[in-house]
Amino acid sequence: MPDAMPPTDLHSLDRAHVFHPSTHMRQHAAGETPNRIITGGKGVYIWDDTGKKTLDAFAGLYCVNVGYGRQEIADAIHKQASELAYYHTYVGHGNEPVIRLSQRIIEKAPQGLCRIYYGMSGSDANETQIKLVWYYNNILGRPEKKKIISRWRGYHGSGVMTGSLTGLEAFHKAFDLPRAPILHTTAPYQYWNGTPGESSRDFAKRCAADLDALIQREGPETVAAFIGEPVLGTGGIVPPPEGYWDEIQKVLRKHDVLLIADEVVTAFGRTGQYFGSDTYGITPDLMTIAKGVSSGYLPLSGVIVSEKVWQVLEDGSDQMGPIGHGWTYSAHPVCAAAANANLDIVDGEDLTGNARDTGAYLQQRLHETFDGHPLVGEVRGVGLMAALEFVADREKKQRFDPAQKVGPRVSAACLANGMMARAMPHGDILGFAPPLVITRDEVDTVVATAKTAVDQVAAELA
Ligand code: PLP
Repeated sequence: MPDAMPPTDLHSLDRAHVFHPSTHMRQHAAGETPNRIITGGKGVYIWDDTGKKTLDAFAGLYCVNVGYGRQEIADAIHKQASELAYYHTYVGHGNEPVIRLSQRIIEKAPQGLCRIYYGMSGSDANETQIKLVWYYNNILGRPEKKKIISRWRGYHGSGVMTGSLTGLEAFHKAFDLPRAPILHTTAPYQYWNGTPGESSRDFAKRCAADLDALIQREGPETVAAFIGEPVLGTGGIVPPPEGYWDEIQKVLRKHDVLLIADEVVTAFGRTGQYFGSDTYGITPDLMTIAKGVSSGYLPLSGVIVSEKVWQVLEDGSDQMGPIGHGWTYSAHPVCAAAANANLDIVDGEDLTGNARDTGAYLQQRLHETFDGHPLVGEVRGVGLMAALEFVADREKKQRFDPAQKVGPRVSAACLANGMMARAMPHGDILGFAPPLVITRDEVDTVVATAKTAVDQVAAELA
């Protein structure tokens, strides 16, 4: 038998050589599931190698906030790469793009935030958060205060520690996660975790009471930090119940537990204010940013540190010496130049305002179209983030059998009809998080396409 010919077309090469994230490996390798090769993008649209145009109602992975094909960012990247493609920022080295970027972010950040440590991804930034929290407590002479609490259904990355923070089983299973000292508390997800007749405020209070009880059980002297996304993202795009963050912050203050706001998705306009913390009255001790800071044109993330934490770190440096933490690409000048050009667009085009106004229109249209639909248990969202929760029985709040893959089927039907909307993991949930440049006409297309897709799947299930 002669050897099989090596594959030459891109699809076969992809199946043969690329290890994709969040992909069924055998099905992909065997060609049983579609692989799409994306070749271009403009505004809210992407194109694949068959020439098919798709409205990307998830902005990549909720990151391409300024839309695709922005020449201003490409030019800024080219200019910076031509002048200074790289230099590290160890031992006090700096570069102008990152200094300017830091200043403009701090100017708009919630009160008290003062310095930014940069990384390349949300996961590495949250990894830095954990290390800083431990370092902080070691400097303060509290070596036992190390546990970190996140929420079930929170998403904070997929590293060893950040995958542990993530409260979704798929990110733990067979990876021996979660690792100590990470603990999980109640998800503020009233549709499933609320009790019949419970008000939103009462549910928020109950979530805070659960957190309080967990901290008391563990011993407040052992609990260092709580991390949460202002709006649960990958766990289902779930805005918090009324008063949730006020109640949670009361508990954290009582026990001297630091608050890390994971704003990887919500920062830079998505909720209709510059930061999700602004929308929900959160005063974080530490904040994580990524995605929207550069709209994904180049990878960039950051840990924003408050005065309260910074002062301890700064005072501790005489005792500890230079901090033993650093990435080669921290504060990369080309990524920072891309971020500056990106934020020029966010600010210049008032995309935060568009997220508020066009976002309100998206929420209204989704409610008008899907409230009462037999397949839809809940329509929810804030700004330009929204979700449809599919249920087998609305009255009895009964889930579909996961084997029916209702969420993925609706997402596939959307795609077949020219729109990308994401089937969120762990549940039958269709998520929307379009670029912040989306117009009302495009929102009409998103909602009409979703309606066609949901009706198609409902007909199949009937
Ligand atoms: N935190 C949140 C809230 C996220 O949504 C994500 C990714 O979606 C991350 C952290 C991890 O970011 P990355 O995938 O860049 O590591």
